[in-house]
Amino acid sequence: MRRCHLLILLLLLSPPLLAERHYYQRGDQHLEIDLSEQLPQARRDDVLGWIRDTADALAAVHGRWPRDRWRVRIYPYNTRGSDPVPWAQVNRGDPDVVSFYIDPRASRERLSNNWTAYHEFAHLLIPYRGWGDMWYSEGFASYYQNLLQARQGVFDEREMWQRLHDGFIRGRTNRRPDLSLAELSPSMRENRSFMRVYWSGAWYWFRADTELRRRSGGKQSVDTALAALNRCCADAAMSAREIAIELDRLTGQLLFVPLFDQVAGSRALPPFEEQFAELGIELENGAVILRNTHPLADIRGSIARPVVPGGR
Ligand SMILES: [Zn+2]
Repeated sequence: MRRCHLLILLLLLSPPLLAERHYYQRGDQHLEIDLSEQLPQARRDDVLGWIRDTADALAAVHGRWPRDRWRVRIYPYNTRGSDPVPWAQVNRGDPDVVSFYIDPRASRERLSNNWTAYHEFAHLLIPYRGWGDMWYSEGFASYYQNLLQARQGVFDEREMWQRLHDGFIRGRTNRRPDLSLAELSPSMRENRSFMRVYWSGAWYWFRADTELRRRSGGKQSVDTALAALNRCCADAAMSAREIAIELDRLTGQLLFVPLFDQVAGSRALPPFEEQFAELGIELENGAVILRNTHPLADIRGSIARPVVPGGR
């Protein structure tokens, strides 16, 4: 759900016809992958492999895809830029559809090392239907894209924390300290405040996840909370706050709602250094250093490890 201002232009440029449908099945769950007829034949196997790998990473969060039937659409997009996936979009519906516009020259490796598909697929993990409090769902996807990449082996745990750190630093750019996050979120485009909105939201999920793991001695996490949320509410259409209320109910905690109110009312990205230090994450000139003898090092490390190895 990003770069929507390009949507109309891209849809005008894109061919409406989809030539080839592929299926990827996990147990009783189905992913349909539609490849545009304009995607070169020679690229199709790499593209399918990339989507299947990323779909496996999504399934590894709690053992199932969040939707029993969902669809991915791939369009080629000729670009002179270096981004292998210049644009992507999630459309919630029946089924949910994730569309990617990709550089048809991009290798399998470049596609797999790109964050976009992890981000877009992560959106599907919560039953948010795209109205209000965008910070909540964009923050969720911004946090989870890094977890999914680390768990899939795109980078290691240290790099995961480095990327989260770098995101939080970017999120400190604050053009509207007069506005709360809840006020800024619907006008982030006009206020050029994507980074504060996305990364304040990512901070929320980072805090919720680490606090839940700490309180439960590692038995609970946002992963386990998402599994419970999926069991009760996969077909629901919930607001961000309704999701927070449900997560507190499902986990038996008073955590997601108080944090929601704190972050929604924040006028800058909350500090993260102290929370990093509590997890054995030190900073040296902006570089993340992990202390593996720290008492919470195992809980910290488990965030970067797949819950369901291999996702199958
Ligand atoms: Zn997004």
